[in-house]
Amino acid sequence: MIVGVPKEVKDAENRVSTTPHGVREYVRHGHQVLVESGAGAGSGFTDDEYRAAGATIVESAADVWSQADMVVKVKEPIEPEYPLLRPGLILYTYLHLAADETLTRILMEKEVTAIAYETVQLADGSLPLLAPMSEVAGRLAVQVGAFYLMRSNGGRGVLLGGVAGVLPANVAVLGGGIVGTNAAQMALGLGANVTLLDINVDRLRYLDHVLHGRFHTLMSNQQNIADVVCQADLVIGGVLIPGARAPKLVTRQMVAAMRPGAVVVDVSIDQGGCIETARPTTHSDPVYAEHGVIHYCVTNMPGAVPRTSTFALSNATLPYGLKLADLGFVEAVRRDPALAKGVNVFRGQITHPSVAEAFGISY
Ligand code: NAD
Repeated sequence: MIVGVPKEVKDAENRVSTTPHGVREYVRHGHQVLVESGAGAGSGFTDDEYRAAGATIVESAADVWSQADMVVKVKEPIEPEYPLLRPGLILYTYLHLAADETLTRILMEKEVTAIAYETVQLADGSLPLLAPMSEVAGRLAVQVGAFYLMRSNGGRGVLLGGVAGVLPANVAVLGGGIVGTNAAQMALGLGANVTLLDINVDRLRYLDHVLHGRFHTLMSNQQNIADVVCQADLVIGGVLIPGARAPKLVTRQMVAAMRPGAVVVDVSIDQGGCIETARPTTHSDPVYAEHGVIHYCVTNMPGAVPRTSTFALSNATLPYGLKLADLGFVEAVRRDPALAKGVNVFRGQITHPSVAEAFGISY
């Protein structure tokens, strides 16, 4: 199969779908890989590294899209890419179609075989191609929290780990899923006093089992949240109710009761946020203060560390990409039910229930 890796064109998107390591794997499996010149630059990969891995470097996006059997991307196609879509092409990328009717209809019209990373789903309900970005965001949340807690950055001037003879900072983590667990681990690594809240007692039990003695778990309810948040130097929001807006767990009143210069990082802002005073921010203007509390609410946190994010994404997407390339689309989805759940559009029809439902289209 010919696999295509175009340069991402969405604003400020510095990730690339496939690392030179990934290219080497496709080539080892007997496939040809076309990489658009400069595609890896934002993540620190040169054309020469791709060449050394066995890729053919082509000059334009059109060269990639017109020759490839499967185009592997990071973000959904945007308008300048629409004319490059064509019948029978396999498109393997994040799509978020339920939020984009125009693109959905174009993929149907152009009869593209569209596989969305975010709907590839294992039997236990987990989303293996979304998880790596939650890991990045959870870990990054602690780094940015530590940064904004510094006095010079507007914070209350607290070092997360304290020092000998001085208490460490209090970190409250809301949600014990992938974001929350990664945030808790990073905060623990820096020596903070961490309390993690979740409504899922089995999850708390598991985390207590593996991290016992190093942090506190607490049932998530209004009273416990209020008690922990008002004592916190750093609050990290990482809750998710799949398919729904995040619940507003931290009220404005609770934020007002926090100490001046404390920091909140609402990672769940992409689902509306779990802190009442949170509103979406960007990498170019990431923070604002409310009630004297610094709010960091960037909706695409992994974009701050494109090199790490690219490796993490490519590690997760490559096995499915190889399966598609080795077996061909039909056989690959027949054999792998998780991958089959990723198929959103096939032969002009929507093949995913929630995308169909979003636009009242039958499937
Ligand atoms: P996850 O499903 O792994 O974990 C969510 C956790 O929230 C679960 O353990 C669940 O039990 C818990 N929860 C649900 N309701 C709760 C409540 N009332 N109180 C406490 N806990 C509750 O999800 P995840 O992968 O960790 O993602 C969390 C959020 O972070 C999602 O909204 C995701 O989209 C978002 N995210 C944002 C970025 C970004 O750049 N801002 C990046 C990655 C992920």
